[in-house]
Amino acid sequence: MSKAFSLTIGDAAYAVDSTFDVVNPSTGAVVGQAPDASTEDLDAAVAAANSAFKAWSVTSEKDRQAACIAIADKLEENAEELAQILTREQGKPLGGIGSRWEVEKVVAWARFTSKLSLPVEGIQDNEAGRVELHRKPLGVVGSITPWNFPLLIAMWHVAPAILSGNTVVIKPSPYTPLSTLRMIELMSEVLPAGVVNCVTGSDSSGSNIGGAMSAHEGIRKIVFTGSCGTGEKVMESAASTMKRLTLELGGNDAGIVLGDVDAEAIAPGLFWGIFINNGQTCGSLKRLYVHEDAHDQVVDALVAFAKTIKVGDGLAESSVLGPIQNQMQFDKVSRLVADAKSRGDVKLGGEPGEGLFFPPTIITGLSNDDSLVSEEQFGPAIGVVKYTDQDDIIAMANDSDNGLGGSVWSSDVEKARALAGQLECGTAWVNKHGALQPNAPFGGVKKSGLGVEFGDEGLKAYTDIQVIMS
Ligand code: NAD
Repeated sequence: MSKAFSLTIGDAAYAVDSTFDVVNPSTGAVVGQAPDASTEDLDAAVAAANSAFKAWSVTSEKDRQAACIAIADKLEENAEELAQILTREQGKPLGGIGSRWEVEKVVAWARFTSKLSLPVEGIQDNEAGRVELHRKPLGVVGSITPWNFPLLIAMWHVAPAILSGNTVVIKPSPYTPLSTLRMIELMSEVLPAGVVNCVTGSDSSGSNIGGAMSAHEGIRKIVFTGSCGTGEKVMESAASTMKRLTLELGGNDAGIVLGDVDAEAIAPGLFWGIFINNGQTCGSLKRLYVHEDAHDQVVDALVAFAKTIKVGDGLAESSVLGPIQNQMQFDKVSRLVADAKSRGDVKLGGEPGEGLFFPPTIITGLSNDDSLVSEEQFGPAIGVVKYTDQDDIIAMANDSDNGLGGSVWSSDVEKARALAGQLECGTAWVNKHGALQPNAPFGGVKKSGLGVEFGDEGLKAYTDIQVIMS
């Protein structure tokens, strides 16, 4: 890739002294250099965002809604360029549920957000007095994103932040910084200077931009998507400045299949619930519990469907799944699969491929004590647990510190809905898993996070309440 990538700070590209390499996980080739910002560069970004806040926070909501549409149009015009960068640095295929799909969703999310609104709410208006609830923007929002859906998660953070009158400093993952650098550069072309700013740093160079953002005096809120461990650090660093926090953290979602399912019919939905984005998805199905009456048929149908999926270089139009994004994640998946192989039956995959490629892997005969079931694998491997007693299954599914999503699969939708309501998780699906939509609040319970994103509830999280009584 020949393009030079720069930070966006204030009204211009911003030069820094050093850069770090970004690598294509399909090939190991260097695809570009990202700026390795210092904490002084972060200070410059926060200052630019703070200065832009004064004017942006008093623009009309109508103007900010129009800005979301302008963003959507701008990104749509540049969709193929963004998808190409994303595939090169993330590894996901261009086609299928890959980079082009992600950019389409980014554009759709900006358009949906443009229709949201935060009107003044009247609480009381009578002879005793008038009470109004106003929602006010916070100031500078710091957004910290992971490497699995770099553009979509960035849009989840940025669009509601700016619609509600805040300005933003975003820091993408050092594994996938380039697509975000380019997306924010494009957004800044249709926004006043300093409303969106992007700072990148390599976690290994010591500047720890994410940590510095969490503690920064000039940032009023952190919206963070990433692992539970880093989320805890963000919460600790944010305490002294009393930052508002939205934390979207790890999940270990259970999928419960009842004995009455039509195995062939649910196999494609189950497969994508588990293997979307190569399993590198916060809200994907990560533990599969199948009733003994349907177990063998479901496993056979899942394996048969998985065999139709082509894994390969993300830039090849024929690829449907790509590699694991980075060595750390590859090593984790390899460790969990090796452990599961010694305890269960490998029905598909199980052996690492070339480089960072790992084939879809399905291992049966496991229990809640096995690490592929009890830990978040965040990769293309699933452990299957056979169960006999429906009364025990909810307790088994809820036996986890995580509570992001969960699902129940059955021909009896009412029965499945009732069981879904007993799952300890932020979103419970019936006969599907992982579907997110911009009007439905999304967030985790237990250690999977704090607060929600999306829709009116998500938007409110970018504001403080002021009550006016007269
Ligand atoms: P990660 O926690 O390693 O990194 C996330 C971000 O935090 C990166 O930008 C990283 O540079 C930054 N960071 C690193 N150290 C930091 C610090 N001390 N303070 C602040 N920020 C710091 O996560 P990851 O490996 O990029 O992503 C995978 C994890 O994210 C998985 O656990 C997955 O389930 C979770 N995730 C959750 C959601 C959700 O919506 N709940 C969505 C996607 C991913």
